[in-house]
Amino acid sequence: MAGIRFESVGKKYSNGFHAVKDLNLDIRDKEFLVLLGPSGCGKSTTLNMIAGLEEVSDGRLLFDDQMVNYMPPHRRDVAMVFQSYALYPHKTVFDNIAFGLQMRKVPREETARRVQDAADKLEISHLLDRRPSQLSGGQRQRVALGRAMVRNPAVFLMDEPLSNLDAALRISMRAEIKDLHHAMQTTFVYVTHDQAEALTLADRIVVMKDGVVQQIGTPDDIYERPQNTFVASFLGNPPINYIDGAVEVSDGETVSFVRGDLKLKFAGETARKLASSNGREIRLGIRAEDVDETRSSGEDSLIRGKVNSVLPVGSDQFLGFDFCGEELFFRVGKDLDHALGENVALSVDLSRLHVFDKASGASLI
Ligand code: ATP
Repeated sequence: MAGIRFESVGKKYSNGFHAVKDLNLDIRDKEFLVLLGPSGCGKSTTLNMIAGLEEVSDGRLLFDDQMVNYMPPHRRDVAMVFQSYALYPHKTVFDNIAFGLQMRKVPREETARRVQDAADKLEISHLLDRRPSQLSGGQRQRVALGRAMVRNPAVFLMDEPLSNLDAALRISMRAEIKDLHHAMQTTFVYVTHDQAEALTLADRIVVMKDGVVQQIGTPDDIYERPQNTFVASFLGNPPINYIDGAVEVSDGETVSFVRGDLKLKFAGETARKLASSNGREIRLGIRAEDVDETRSSGEDSLIRGKVNSVLPVGSDQFLGFDFCGEELFFRVGKDLDHALGENVALSVDLSRLHVFDKASGASLI
C-alpha cells in the first residue's frame, strides 16, 4: 500500500454528534503517524474509520487510489491493537496470536512458523502455552502486538496500546514499538493523548481538538513551531507560559515585547515578522525550559518575579514564579537554590520566544 488519504472526511454519529470534521490528511507509506489530542477530540474515531469499524459520513477515504468508504474491515489489509488488548481469555498465547491466521485457513505449519517468529521477536516464546490471565500487563501487550504482527498487514493501527502499563514499562515498550516499526517496514497509525509518547514515536504528529486538526508536522515542527496556543499548550512539561502584552517598535528597527516593566527584545526572523506591528496586542509564549540564570545577558532579556514554589523533579526543578500576580512555571537546573518568596531575575532565551495573536491564539511567526 502506498498510503492512506482522507479527503474532507467527516464523521457524524447517529445521535448527530460531529466527532470528526473536514479531515484532510495524507498518511505516507511506511510512515509512523501519531494522532494526538485530549480525550474526545476524535482520534479513535479517525483510527476506526481506517479500520472500517466506523463508517465515513462525509468525504472520501482512500487506500492508495481506491476509495474504501464502504469496504468491510476484513477486506482492508490492516491490523489493530487495542488499549484493552482484546485477548481471548480461554485461548493460549499461541492460539491468541494464531487466531487471525487460523480464521484465514493459513496452513498449520506456516501458522506455527509465523507465530514462533513473532514470539521470538517479542521475546515471549516461553509463554506460548499460557493463558492471558497468567501474564503480566506488559506480556499481554506483547501478545496483542504479536497477533497483529503475524498477519503482516499493510497498516498497523494502535489505539493507546501502552496506557494500561506502568510508567517504566511504558517507556521501554515505546522503544520496542519504534523498533517494530523499523523491522516491519509498514505504515503505523498510533493514537495517544500522551505528548511524550507522540514526540518519541512519530515521524509526523496530527494534533486534534474537537474533531478538527490543529496542526500536522514532525515532532520538531509541532514542539518548536506550534501554530496556535492549543498546540503550544498541549506539548511541554510544565506547559508553556503565556504573558499578554504588546509589540513595541523603537528606532524603526528594535522590536520588543512590552508588558509593564518587562521588555524582551525579539530576535531574527521573529523581529522581522513583527516589525510593522507596533502596538499590536499579542500573547507571548515562553517554554518552561527557555530560561536560565547563568546566561550572560542584557536587561532586555530578563524577567523578574518572586519564587512561589520549588518542585524538584530529579535532574531539574520546576520553579513556580509570580510575575505581576500571574503564576508562571519554569524548569531550571537542580543546583539553583531559591527560597520561597525570594525575588529572582531569569534570563529568557530571546531566540525561542513564541508569539500568538491575543484574540485568535494563532501563531504570528
Ligand atoms: P479518548 O482518548 O477518550 O478515547 P478520542 O479522542 O479517541 O478520545 P473518540 O473516541 O474519537 O475520541 O470520540 C470523539 C467524540 O465522539 C467524543 O466526544 C465521543 O463522546 C463521541 N462519540 C464516540 N463514539 C460515539 C458514538 N458511538 N455515538 C455518539 N458519540 C460518540
